[in-house]
Amino acid sequence: MPTLATVRIISAFSTPRHRIFSSLHKVIMDNVTPPKPGARAASSFVHDKAFVNGEWVPASSGKTFDVVNPANGKVIGSVPDMDASDTEMAIKVAYKAFQSWKETTAKERSVLLKKWADLVNQNREELAKLLTSEMGKPVAESAGEIMYGAGFLDLFAEEAKRVEGDIIQTPMKSRRILVLKQPIGVSGMITPWNFPNAMITRKAGAAIAAGCTVVLKPAEDTPYSALALCELAKEAGIPAGVLNVVTSSRDNASQVGKMICESPLVTKMSFTGSTFVGKLLLQQCASTVKKVSLELGGNAPFIVFESADVDAAVQGTMGAKFRCSGQTCVCANRIYVHESIFDEYVRKFAAVVEKDLKVGDGILPGTTQGPLINKKAVEKIDAHVQDAVSKGAKVVCGGKSMGGNFYEPTILTGVTGDMRCAKEEIFGPIAGIIKFKTEDEVVGLANATTSGLSGYFYSRDISQIWRVAERLESGLVGVNEGVISMPEVPFGGWKESGLGREGGRYGIEEYLEIKYVCMGGL
Ligand code: ADP
Repeated sequence: MPTLATVRIISAFSTPRHRIFSSLHKVIMDNVTPPKPGARAASSFVHDKAFVNGEWVPASSGKTFDVVNPANGKVIGSVPDMDASDTEMAIKVAYKAFQSWKETTAKERSVLLKKWADLVNQNREELAKLLTSEMGKPVAESAGEIMYGAGFLDLFAEEAKRVEGDIIQTPMKSRRILVLKQPIGVSGMITPWNFPNAMITRKAGAAIAAGCTVVLKPAEDTPYSALALCELAKEAGIPAGVLNVVTSSRDNASQVGKMICESPLVTKMSFTGSTFVGKLLLQQCASTVKKVSLELGGNAPFIVFESADVDAAVQGTMGAKFRCSGQTCVCANRIYVHESIFDEYVRKFAAVVEKDLKVGDGILPGTTQGPLINKKAVEKIDAHVQDAVSKGAKVVCGGKSMGGNFYEPTILTGVTGDMRCAKEEIFGPIAGIIKFKTEDEVVGLANATTSGLSGYFYSRDISQIWRVAERLESGLVGVNEGVISMPEVPFGGWKESGLGREGGRYGIEEYLEIKYVCMGGL
């Protein structure tokens, strides 16, 4: 493993935690590459206040919490640690703003969303550096996420104008039947740390396009990307109170979430995160019968059939498995390879992993694998590897922590269904490979899970392609593709992976209510 063994972990956890917000942090973020003319420095996007009613506000308690760079353990800065009362205040603001925002025309909303999208795109590189500093993914991947995030704003700017009702044929001459679609109201949102920009624009873009207002709690690990989006929304002219971001520590997350879920003024709740928290929020939303969207955990099968182009399948696995260091809910979790091509696939996959992946601080050029989000994540990944090895799996490469939050990209063979890495969502850089013999067997194994977010397979047999695409029990299927998320598509899971869809024309429907109007006496 020479390439991985010689990887430099540039930012070890050797320095004591200290404030670097105004000095070192600025150096890290602004001097890697200078901002383009017209774009601002990344550090100018670092806000130490939350955003409510168009203003930068502290927590009413005055409390704050630190945000840490996962690549080096250093504190980037701190943001308000808001609680239930701050959240209630933001909800009232959003409710008031909704009364006028819902009266705007789709065209007016579209123009503002388009402006917001343009500003996000213009500042892509600086927003990417900010994102990398709080989340860890390589800066090129962060730039890709910013474009993806801006893509949702751009798409929903268009979709706003396509919200159309219906006129239904009447069975009675004296009546006419109309169907109206209207904004649902204040939309509460809770977002995760792995896509600190795009998970916000995918939700808030749709809501704002539909005429709703937003109260959003970003993940405690990544509030800065959320606050940067608020700054650009304000600059785009989105009125005060339409987008509100309430920051809170993990300790306060449950009271902020409960207020969002149980407030009668909030009529929609959208969450992306773990299945465990999603179920809790769904229960809390029952008290007010809110419309709920949930994007929860996955356990994606990635199947390589005997007719597959093995090289293409290896490339597909790299994207599906190692993007974001394996920390996405659509990452390949169980890799099934047909016995006839198993050895070839493993050999080629290991060679590409060793050649192409470079672990390090995501801010540095050349890094392809940033740190995991925190120490707990590293411990979990290591526990998965230990569990697999103790049950008979073989480590082909990797398999060890590299210090700090870094973990070697790992390939395991001989994985079986009783191992944690096959049963649970891994959320890290472990590729566990399982040999199979028949299509029926592998489809059965692929579907034998309570999750149903994404599934992937490689095959050149057209009949098999249709069969398996239809048989996989998941909301997203990649056929001969390993990375399939795009703003235009309906993203969402079957079974315990979620409720509702985000993105594309389906995404805006989540923020609309249907009203049947009967015009009688004609
Ligand atoms: P992860 O473990 O990957 O952080 P979570 O589902 O725990 O995934 O977190 C996703 C989001 O849910 C974050 O914004 C987090 O703060 C929030 N969250 C976590 N626990 C709760 C809770 N009990 N109520 C509301 N939000 C929560």
